[in-house]
Amino acid sequence: MEIKINILTPVWTGDINSRGKSLKSTGIIGSLRWWTEAILKGIGYSVCDPTAEIRCPQETNNQKTYCPACLIFGATGIRRLFRLEVNGGEKVFDGGAIIIKPKGRNRGWYLGSGLRGQIDLRIISLDKDFNETLLLLPLSIASNWGEIGAKTQHGYGVVALEEEKELVFEDFKNSVRRILQEARLRKIGIKERKSINDVLPNLKEMFFAKVQFEAQDNNWWKEVDGIKERERKGDNNYYKGYINDSRMISWINSDSIPIAPAIKNWLRFGNGKALWQSKNDNKYKDIETSLFGTTRGEKSASKINISCAYYLNNKLWEFRISGWIPENNLPNGFDRNNFLKALMASLNGSGSINIPWSNLLGNKTKDHKLKVWREFNSSRDTVSPNQEDMEKYLDSLIKGEERNK
Ligand SMILES: [Zn+2]
Repeated sequence: MEIKINILTPVWTGDINSRGKSLKSTGIIGSLRWWTEAILKGIGYSVCDPTAEIRCPQETNNQKTYCPACLIFGATGIRRLFRLEVNGGEKVFDGGAIIIKPKGRNRGWYLGSGLRGQIDLRIISLDKDFNETLLLLPLSIASNWGEIGAKTQHGYGVVALEEEKELVFEDFKNSVRRILQEARLRKIGIKERKSINDVLPNLKEMFFAKVQFEAQDNNWWKEVDGIKERERKGDNNYYKGYINDSRMISWINSDSIPIAPAIKNWLRFGNGKALWQSKNDNKYKDIETSLFGTTRGEKSASKINISCAYYLNNKLWEFRISGWIPENNLPNGFDRNNFLKALMASLNGSGSINIPWSNLLGNKTKDHKLKVWREFNSSRDTVSPNQEDMEKYLDSLIKGEERNK
């Protein structure tokens, strides 16, 4: 099966300078696995963390067990049920990374070239029990609400499937059951692994939001914090910006604007801090690290993703802000519900903390508004508030529903 994907914000697939096709598919497969794990967890399965000690297989009394994610994506001792070929896409720019430093930052956000254009995915089944829905469904949720590929916390990876797929959650569920059938597993000499004590993303604990705004003209991006020039020459604080940088111009020509550093900078270091700060100063650093990750290394990744802005139509632009805020294992002093409530209120302009849009995105943008907020079983969900039925919620995400019917 072939799927054409239109890239809305550059996709990071791994080492872009390597000509190897396998690397490209590794990045995409990695993110599809991540989405699959989040969905499986959301419907009550346990999955392992393939990068940690708890990875499959688990062996007790000579019996090897594997979690459903490994049964689909493979692990030591069992092969992946499919092969994925990734073709197409072109490099956004040549040369080293752009280092975006919004106001007040000495260290910056690294923006390397990603892929732009269109990519073709070809799924080749390697097992009679494999059903393409197992990949299509996570792909569809990721393209409707999140991102694919790596470095999504830096704004990469918003895509749109060229053709809408008719998918229902029930098919995914049945496909998972099929690969978990005892008789099937017995033939390969393994068993299903249940109850793993993991701390992996769960779709039940995620939120997905889209924010839209209007831009006066095509040059609005020249005023985005971190892209524009700052202070006068000769100043110690002089920052050249990137408005004349050919790499940045190539990026902009892909109809996407790297605004994530500007917004993250406000949320993490600026007045946006008030949305998540604890009254107790001692807890401050714990919460900051938990929400935004450590600056070095990917191990403690950010729990909040902000995408690049991408062009919709006429004067309209959009960006995504989403995240996984677990209900457990949160640092003391952090109130999950208050944070999400305050963040949503700021995005729709009704909160006590105003987002200084013109400082962040420039004076040529206006009418910033929250278009949609999705969250399982929450009064905040703007499409189907308090939807307690996970399968119905997933079906709505798959359809990409943005409006209350
Ligand atoms: Zn596993």
